[in-house]
Amino acid sequence: MRMKEENPVDKISIVVPCYNEEETLEYFYEAMTALSEKIEGAGIEIILVDDGSKDHTYEKMCALHEKDDRIKCISFSRNFGKEAAIFSGLRAGSGDCFVVMDADLQHPPETILQMYAYWKEGYEVVEGVKVSRGKESKIHKWLAGAFYDAISGIMHVDMRNSSDFKLLDRKAAEAVCSLTEKNTFFRALTYWVGFKSIAVSYEVQERVAGTTKWSYWKLGKYALRNLISFSNAPLQIVTVIGILFLLVGAVWGVDAVVSFFQGRSVGGYPSLVLLIIIATGGIMVSLGIIGAYIAKIYDEIKNRPQYIIREKKD
Ligand code: UDP
Ligand code: MG
Repeated sequence: MRMKEENPVDKISIVVPCYNEEETLEYFYEAMTALSEKIEGAGIEIILVDDGSKDHTYEKMCALHEKDDRIKCISFSRNFGKEAAIFSGLRAGSGDCFVVMDADLQHPPETILQMYAYWKEGYEVVEGVKVSRGKESKIHKWLAGAFYDAISGIMHVDMRNSSDFKLLDRKAAEAVCSLTEKNTFFRALTYWVGFKSIAVSYEVQERVAGTTKWSYWKLGKYALRNLISFSNAPLQIVTVIGILFLLVGAVWGVDAVVSFFQGRSVGGYPSLVLLIIIATGGIMVSLGIIGAYIAKIYDEIKNRPQYIIREKKD
């Protein structure tokens, strides 16, 4: 027997990106069922987005959909990344507000009660903020720290413990989805769109099952991509590098001319080599930074969709 959707006052759409989550979905569903009984005055719908999983995630999702008609399924034609999955879920939801959370229950479901309470008070964006970063290696913590310091500086908000676990009012979700860029950074865009917001802190839980889908390589690319999509500062660094070289070069040049007239212009081989190395190094770095932006412009100008949906079950 398929459970019927009740008809309460508010509807919360819970958006869940899933990539190879066959082991966690059952736990997730149980936790959500328990939660839905605790939320007073609101019903939930769960939008599970299969981000091109290689295991049986989609079959598991469909089985849950058969059992419970509050579950909606979207399946991508291949792995497009968590960002794409979040955006497609937000576009598919019909709720009055949206909660984005991971499938592995690292985001504690009870926090949604607090988020919903704030939404009822009139807050339009409720940011889930990590109390601690959970179990991570020292190097991971350090790298993540450096990245979030940079992003926080650009955004002028403290994003160090921010996460993708958020509640958005329908207006805020629509605003985020209306942005036309393809290189999205959901975590920061919810700050960028504004709206009346508040933070809720939560303790990062252990993954219920399965393993993390991120490798250092993937995380590194993700960090770089997000920095570039949020800031032009690296391009300004190129200008600064150029000016520094010019200044050093000017002093060096004057010295060279003076020593020529003083007749002590001999040797100079080491300084020449040094100059070439420094200058070409600087040029290479600068070209690399400019290249990264050109690549992004190229990506955006192609205007390809952020994701392709293979199948949908409402
Ligand atoms: N995820 C996704 N696409 C990807 C990688 C991850 O949809 O390419 C989902 C994943 O299924 C999970 C969430 O994003 O629901 C967070 O991923 P994970 O738990 O692997 O990351 P971590 O919690 O370790 O940062
Ligand atoms: Mg996780």
